[in-house]
Amino acid sequence: MDAGSGECDVAVVGAGFAGLAAARVLARNGVDVVVLEARDRVGGRSWTHTTPMGFTVDRGGQWIGPTQHRLQALADEMAVPTFPTYTSGEAVEWRDGVRHRYAGLIPTSDHSAAAEAVSAILELDLAAQEVPLDAPWDSEGAAELDTRSLGAWLDEHVEAPGARSMVDVAVKAVFGAEPPEMSLLFSLFYLHAGGGLSNLVRTTGGAQERRFAGGSQQLAVAMATELGERVVCSVPVEAVDYAADHVVLTGHRRDEEATGAGGEWALRCERAIVAMPPMLAALIDWSPPLPDPRDRLARGMPMGAVTKVHAFYARPFWREDGLNGQLVSDSGALRSTFDDSPPDGSHGAIVGFIAGDDCRVFDSRGPEARHHAVVSELERAFGPDAARPLEVVEQHWPAEPFTRGGPVAYCVPGTLSQAGPALRRPVGPIHWAGTETATEWCGYLDGALSSGERAATEVLEALGAG
Ligand SMILES: Cc1cc2nc3c(=O)[nH]c(=O)nc-3n(C[C@H](O)[C@H](O)[C@H](O)COP(=O)(O)OP(=O)(O)OC[C@H]3O[C@@H](n4cnc5c(N)ncnc54)[C@H](O)[C@@H]3O)c2cc1C
Repeated sequence: MDAGSGECDVAVVGAGFAGLAAARVLARNGVDVVVLEARDRVGGRSWTHTTPMGFTVDRGGQWIGPTQHRLQALADEMAVPTFPTYTSGEAVEWRDGVRHRYAGLIPTSDHSAAAEAVSAILELDLAAQEVPLDAPWDSEGAAELDTRSLGAWLDEHVEAPGARSMVDVAVKAVFGAEPPEMSLLFSLFYLHAGGGLSNLVRTTGGAQERRFAGGSQQLAVAMATELGERVVCSVPVEAVDYAADHVVLTGHRRDEEATGAGGEWALRCERAIVAMPPMLAALIDWSPPLPDPRDRLARGMPMGAVTKVHAFYARPFWREDGLNGQLVSDSGALRSTFDDSPPDGSHGAIVGFIAGDDCRVFDSRGPEARHHAVVSELERAFGPDAARPLEVVEQHWPAEPFTRGGPVAYCVPGTLSQAGPALRRPVGPIHWAGTETATEWCGYLDGALSSGERAATEVLEALGAG
């Protein structure tokens, strides 16, 4: 698209994994497609960065696990190798101010609490299987499940505070939200879509099993390279005018190529795919306004809150002590960590998550206080060597204007049963993609890919080009 204005068959808004996957399908079917991306880079919530000291870091999505077939196929196609997350040795549990070591999936310092936590997770996973992936709003008792929060369910099913804190840590890490914030119906759907909470928190055999050598964003860059000039960055879509037979998208360029009156541009097309979370799509000025259920989705699907933290060291010293870099903590900023060192162990890296209320609280205390909390919590978990990281990267996703949180959007009670069908239902010539619309691996890179492919198929059918 030239700076100024242009025309095409289909515009895709957002060059995350979803938008790029959609555009590839369209381009391969001979459709004249343009991808409009607000940022000066592609990848969205996948963002690989080289630090000033030369460490490679995935500031957003990074892991791939079994059954993420679309993501694996893309990695194979782009010849991007994966390697296993380091898991040899024991993990650390920080509980009631005391450090423990444990082997296996669940911290075991309090055996009865561990047993209760496992039993609650299994019960949730069983209930999740009853929720249909393509239409969770059609579940038996959907309205009632949707009026309740996951927190209310846990209040009833988990008695021991130690057990509850373990489940809460798992939920916060997965959703970036607190259990009382989320609809039970949505939580069950999301768990089903990812194979269950036990699968989502697991390394070996689960969602954190492997990483991409060189980072996940290179898959987005490879898709964008294939699309070439069809991908235009630094063009946030500010307004969309649409009617049955056309869409006009407008905005102002954000880069030095801005020309004309403040870099204004306009793109006219037959159909558009909007590939981003519903809340972000609602920030666009729609004319005519989007129908009510879409508005309700935007209001009832906030983004989670997560700060992703990497601490780099000269070597993965915890391995020498028989530790695998994993931490589960009942207090502080970092409630969960993993070994994030490169495959050859040439330097050490720990990745951790500050999620949900902790993310908001530590953000309000300011970056210095957060940094101090992170380093002292790493020290109490992994010993004095952890107190002197070479470099620390803190990626606070709620401050990203074109993401506004993470890792994913979640539904507050009452949203999914009432407005859920609007997630994927086209509005005139507007189609919806983004991992939040996926029925498998919703919230993950794999779900983003399938959502883009599904939306592109809809558009091909609508254009009579399928
Ligand atoms: C901290 C963190 C850790 C994660 N870990 C994992 C993991 O290990 N494994 C995994 O599979 N997934 C993980 N995820 C989730 C994964 O990153 C997302 O599911 C996936 O990247 C979503 O892709 P998407 O294309 O649907 O959305 P996005 O990546 O959000 O893409 C939307 C795009 O739209 C653009 N945009 C927004 N507004 C506008 C506008 N007005 N005009 C034009 N463009 C606009 C954005 O800039 C963005 O590029 C993680 C996410 C985070 C934040």
